[in-house]
Amino acid sequence: MPPRFTHDAFPQRVVFAAGAISQVEAETERLGISRALVIATPGSGERLGAKVAAQLGPRAVGLHAKAVIHVPRAVAEGGLAAAKAASADGLVAVGGGSAIGLAKIIARDTGLSILAVPTTYSGSEATPVWGTSDGDRKTTGKDNKVLPRTIVYDPELTLALPANVTAASAMNAMAHCVMGLWSPDRTPVTVVFATEAMRRFGDHLNKAVANGQDIDSRSECLIASWLAGTVLTAGTGLNHKLAHVLGGYGLPHAETHAVLLAHTTRFNLAANTDANTRLTEALRARDPAAALENMLHGFGIPRRLRDLGFTEARIPDAAVQIDALKITAPRPVSAEDARALLLAAY
Ligand code: NAD
Repeated sequence: MPPRFTHDAFPQRVVFAAGAISQVEAETERLGISRALVIATPGSGERLGAKVAAQLGPRAVGLHAKAVIHVPRAVAEGGLAAAKAASADGLVAVGGGSAIGLAKIIARDTGLSILAVPTTYSGSEATPVWGTSDGDRKTTGKDNKVLPRTIVYDPELTLALPANVTAASAMNAMAHCVMGLWSPDRTPVTVVFATEAMRRFGDHLNKAVANGQDIDSRSECLIASWLAGTVLTAGTGLNHKLAHVLGGYGLPHAETHAVLLAHTTRFNLAANTDANTRLTEALRARDPAAALENMLHGFGIPRRLRDLGFTEARIPDAAVQIDALKITAPRPVSAEDARALLLAAY
């Protein structure tokens, strides 16, 4: 079939350097922000947020370190109230997808610009996708208002990222890349980004997990995560859809992605597309699925769905939900296929 695609190139400035935290103030000024509210997660995230707030000096009007994964409704409301109380005219989100996610909801409802300083590998900073949760229900949407206008990547801020978060958030990003090679909405740009991100993760993630202080590997993984986040704009694939269904049983997002990845890759590789060549080259492995499995096994994070609290009795019900999604790319996934995939991952 002749090629056919639509590519949205987003207006986004990306600044990358070890020590780039020192440029946050100038980049904020460039966006016309003079009263920035810094958004972060509590604990280690709050310390990172305080560091950035200190760099901003009087340009920071507060540090709101109350972001929580999936942005529960009360957390979203708290963030909106904090931005209003501080008369903020812009947001500086420091941390992973949770901090950036809260800034996105505030931006969606107020139109404030976001400058993101990402410190994990999940890639939310590169997408116009927001998400929020109400009890067990998660709602997501797309809005260009929530796309961070500027991203400042400073690999030095990632040196203390714990090994398990490093491994799980990077495998989540890798899942977006691998599945992006089969997405019906892929474009020549997203395919190249996905391949290059896999090459960098393949060469450097093991080293970044083994030694968090390795600034070279940290830098390579952070570049890969930017590329992977950009790939996410081409839509999600089988791995994400399975992880989403399993999320309904309370399984953690990034770790579930990591456990499923080798299995969904093996399943999709059987469709025999040019993804095989790309992944073989990027991972320097004749069997890309086995290479991903080896990576997971070396990381000391959960390897099987049973390690994440999933029970075998739930497989038939989950398989019915996956069958109902009518996944066809790059090959159809029947209820029987889904059962076999989940059992193998279990
Ligand atoms: P996270 O933001 O929840 O961070 C995980 C933990 O690591 C937190 O406790 C945080 O405080 C800590 N941490 C972060 N950076 C650190 C650092 N450098 N040093 C020490 N500790 C650090 O994790 P995440 O995986 O990045 O984000 C998950 C969330 O992002 C989910 O809600 C997911 O749905 C969302 N997400 C959204 C998109 C999108 O496009 N909208 C994309 C990917 C993920």
